[in-house]
Amino acid sequence: MRAVAVNFENHKVELRSVPEPDAVGDGEVLFRVHQIGVCGTDREVAGIRLVQPPPGDSHLTIGHEALGQIVATGSNVDSLQPGDWVVPMVRRPCAACIPCSDGRSDLCASGDYVERGIVRLHGYFSDYAVDDRRYLLTVPAGLLDVAILIEPLSAVEKAVAVALNMHNRYYSFDPPRALVLGAGTIGILAALVLRARGFDVAVASLEERDHPRGRVLESAGIPYTTVDRAPQADIVIEAAGSADALTNGARSLERNGVMVILGAPNATAAFPYRDLIVRNQSLIGSVNASMESFEQALADLARFDRRVLDAMIHRVRFDDFERSLLGPLGPYPKIVHMLV
Ligand code: BGC
Repeated sequence: MRAVAVNFENHKVELRSVPEPDAVGDGEVLFRVHQIGVCGTDREVAGIRLVQPPPGDSHLTIGHEALGQIVATGSNVDSLQPGDWVVPMVRRPCAACIPCSDGRSDLCASGDYVERGIVRLHGYFSDYAVDDRRYLLTVPAGLLDVAILIEPLSAVEKAVAVALNMHNRYYSFDPPRALVLGAGTIGILAALVLRARGFDVAVASLEERDHPRGRVLESAGIPYTTVDRAPQADIVIEAAGSADALTNGARSLERNGVMVILGAPNATAAFPYRDLIVRNQSLIGSVNASMESFEQALADLARFDRRVLDAMIHRVRFDDFERSLLGPLGPYPKIVHMLV
């Protein structure tokens, strides 16, 4: 079968022919991969950053945002059957820590977790994939055209839940205000989630107002502004991938405010740490997501405006992977490869 992989010997992204999975073990399912979404992490993986091959392998199949349809189930898989549509989780637990044994590998304490398509486990950008049923979320047929957004949305759900848990609820605004930095997939989804939680939301980003990403936000009725004009907010979600955005976001944070970092690169920036003390502010990082966040993502996706979600997605063929992984960043928030 076809697979798009990072080759660690020649440092290239290439189309490979790999064996089709021939056995479906106890508790596992085999699914046909129909869609693969591309995010910033995949582009890092394609540039051989943030990535490790499976032990003993010199390549790693890329892709961690996937939608598939089950073709066969192994023994002891009662909850899933051929024909069901599934979205897989990304991370698999380490063997040692308590969060992982509690089903919270997103909070892994040892750092020895593995991630499909990123860290030491092959991903899903191939015709078929096998997975343990415990890491699969079933998707209803009515959501198939936007279900590829579930994985990135799960990371947003976790981040918003973390922010809400952390905030002491003495908001500076009524209704409370949220600011999202960045108008990519994560930024737009974060704005939709925060609005659904009752926040007055604005998005600040670098793109011009008439940029396709700005237009998606406009169609959702979410105000869009430049980073230097960002309004003050009780909760700030950083999804911009820039240290500058972080510094600006900190300036927009109100007293008691909570800021969650999702996209910042490995960069250093001057930060007003004393404000964290005297203004009772919290600065938190968040990564990955639990099954609970995947379920919340599914529930939210079903209630968001479908036209807004549709406008985020640009569908391309299987073979367009060099452009999506290595080419310049296009205007659409989410590139989705259609494999079937
Ligand atoms: C994925 C997460 C993953 C993170 C770090 C993100 O793009 O959505 O599941 O934990 O990258 O590898």
